[in-house]
Amino acid sequence: MAIATINPATGETLRTFDALTPAELESKLQRAADTFREYRRTPFAERARWMRRAAELLDAEAERYGRLMTEEMGKPLEAAKAEARKCATACRYYVAKAEGLLEDRPIEVGGDTAFVRYQPLGPVLAVMPWNFPFWQVVRFAAPALMAGNVGLLKHAHNVPQCALALEALFLQSGFPTGAFQTLLIETSEVNRVIEDPRVRAVTLTGSEGAGRAVGASAGKALKKVVLELGGSDPFVVLSSADLDKAVETAVSARLVNNGQSCIAAKRFILAAPIADEFERRFIERLKRITVGDPLDPKTDMGPLATGGILQGLHAQVEASVKAGARLLLGGKPLQGPGNFYPPTVLADPPPHAPAFHEELFGPVATLLRARDAAHALELANATPFGLGASVWTRDAEEQRRFIDGLEAGMVFVNEMVVSDARLPFGGVKHSGHGRELADLGLHEFLNAKTVRVA
Ligand code: NDP
Repeated sequence: MAIATINPATGETLRTFDALTPAELESKLQRAADTFREYRRTPFAERARWMRRAAELLDAEAERYGRLMTEEMGKPLEAAKAEARKCATACRYYVAKAEGLLEDRPIEVGGDTAFVRYQPLGPVLAVMPWNFPFWQVVRFAAPALMAGNVGLLKHAHNVPQCALALEALFLQSGFPTGAFQTLLIETSEVNRVIEDPRVRAVTLTGSEGAGRAVGASAGKALKKVVLELGGSDPFVVLSSADLDKAVETAVSARLVNNGQSCIAAKRFILAAPIADEFERRFIERLKRITVGDPLDPKTDMGPLATGGILQGLHAQVEASVKAGARLLLGGKPLQGPGNFYPPTVLADPPPHAPAFHEELFGPVATLLRARDAAHALELANATPFGLGASVWTRDAEEQRRFIDGLEAGMVFVNEMVVSDARLPFGGVKHSGHGRELADLGLHEFLNAKTVRVA
């Protein structure tokens, strides 16, 4: 696939980029290894000063970064600017917290001195997706750089300008050349980079297929890997829920990022007594969504990121309807240039329909009805994924039951699933393994060295 900026709102190719030559790639890998030897010894205060500067730049340049994101992957400009500012909060979080999280952890063993010392691993390869082209990268880079690792970014082929802007951001903030480098390479080169002995670990956010490929390569090379893959997150609404709030949040939770978020609510599991009312109000609300130019402030939802995503999504909708799902809204790409797909609602797909068991990466909501809370929990867990889950109930016993029983890496009660630098982020089952953000994210790429001194 060409490394190129293709405006998803118009289909116009705006810029193309040549992939790195083998010699250029070699020089970047060597630079990463050389930089690490020095960089790991930089005082924490120095790294913190650079990271603080990165946060300032993200805030100050939010408009410019936002336009880049919108131009490359189509999210509404306001959301893109908010993404840049959210990255600044993650940088500041690790400026404030990383030193404490990196301190030796004493262990009482009686007599001897014992502790765990946290040390960086070295160059870490980050294979990242286009959907949050800044946030996905910064949530890896901020903890990695504060911990003394250096980063190598292989970004998605359709967001090369965001990838280069991120490299420039860290350089401009003061980090040494080589602390964070973008590798404009083809997908087929990723395996070679993972195998390279100078690269010590890998993290990937993306599809299940990419996760399997990168996980297999990392396994073969015996390298630590964190995988943050897709989700088919349930949004469970039980009888005691605040329905007004649940419906309003459901719309945002499904349409966030033009429907292309791993933690977007995808399956709406509705308790029988409130199901009709929820369905009516949800559809009414979705009909008012404005789809169009992501640069226009009046637009709620822009295009899908690529033609391939649009075709894949529409094929899943058609196959679900063929399998017996009821189409209640939308269901056809919009006419004209650009990858526009309307808010779409499918109801009651049978278990073999894609809408029941696959991830639908676009503005398509699946409604499922549950006989009671036990059935709702069963439906929530009935997918291969286990990333986030949102459950709506004011009943304390039901809250306990769902917190305990949901097969998910993250459970949010009476609110939608969101990522936040302070909260660990990640999944179970086919949604991957390992955690990003918070303390756990920082510790993923460290050697927790056990020391005992007699
Ligand atoms: P991919 O998973 O294909 O892309 C994510 C990243 O992985 C990109 O940098 C991509 O590079 C790279 N990649 C893809 N295949 C391989 C491979 N075999 N070896 C090494 N690296 C690889 O996402 P798509 O854009 O194709 O989206 C398809 C689906 O992925 C979506 O429908 C959604 O289900 C899921 N997805 C999930 C995301 C999440 O946040 N969890 C984010 C994006 C997508 P390149 O672009 O060069 O192929």
